[in-house]
Amino acid sequence: MNPPDADARTLARTFLEQTLSAEGNALMLEHATREEVVRRLAAARRSVGAAAAASTDGAAVLPDAEVGPGPAVTEPMIGEAPDLDTLAALVASCSRCTLHESRKNAVFGEGAPNARVVCVGEAPGAREDETGRPFVGRAGRLLDRLLLAIGLPRKSVYICNVLKSRPPRNRDPLPEEVAACSPYLLRQLALIEPEVIIAFGAFAARTLLETKSALGRLRGTVHRYSGYPVVATYHPAALLRNPSWIRPTWEDLQIVRRMLDGAGDREAGIG
Ligand code: SF4
Repeated sequence: MNPPDADARTLARTFLEQTLSAEGNALMLEHATREEVVRRLAAARRSVGAAAAASTDGAAVLPDAEVGPGPAVTEPMIGEAPDLDTLAALVASCSRCTLHESRKNAVFGEGAPNARVVCVGEAPGAREDETGRPFVGRAGRLLDRLLLAIGLPRKSVYICNVLKSRPPRNRDPLPEEVAACSPYLLRQLALIEPEVIIAFGAFAARTLLETKSALGRLRGTVHRYSGYPVVATYHPAALLRNPSWIRPTWEDLQIVRRMLDGAGDREAGIG
């Protein structure tokens, strides 16, 4: 059941106020350190390298030293990655589009490998490029709070972007970049098998849903991406710039909550 309007408004206002005033407060959740991420990538890469050495066709040719751009990763290699660590290692060495030339770090994604919810944003920004992690900084903390509000600690979901490398100066991703990178997202979803995808922001929503419609028209309805239910809503960074969108975001996340609670599409409030 929807909470009363007044409660929803109060909660929405509280999310923003707490986020704006509580840098590093007690609700900061546990995150893997960058060193841990790099260590995991290196281990996964060694595993891929061993698989390549053992393969008869030698299709996977990944160096096993430092994580960095390597030979082209093919779509079959992506589609056959047996787990998320292996897939992350492929991303770390990916040069399928020119974005690998300017990135500092690929941003594969992070979270529970069996998450019920996968959050998908557009592409890494400056902080993500620096840290190699998705949704960090103020927008990331707001995302954490929004998810907590529907009972989902950050570490219980999986968070990633359509693109795994940062477009220079945060420009819009190009169609060829999306085409080159989409197999990674598809494989992530196939490995995680989420119950719901939340598309954060107009670009992620339009890309996943292959439409040019405005985000306002995509909200409030459950769509499908490769068979997975998709709920589209505003990006946390946009909420920081425009707090009036927190209320509709809250309503969208309530749809997700109802879906996780077992409501059918119609019961969940889907048009
Ligand atoms: S954006 Fe995707 S396809 Fe392009 S280099 Fe990065 S990981 Fe590879």
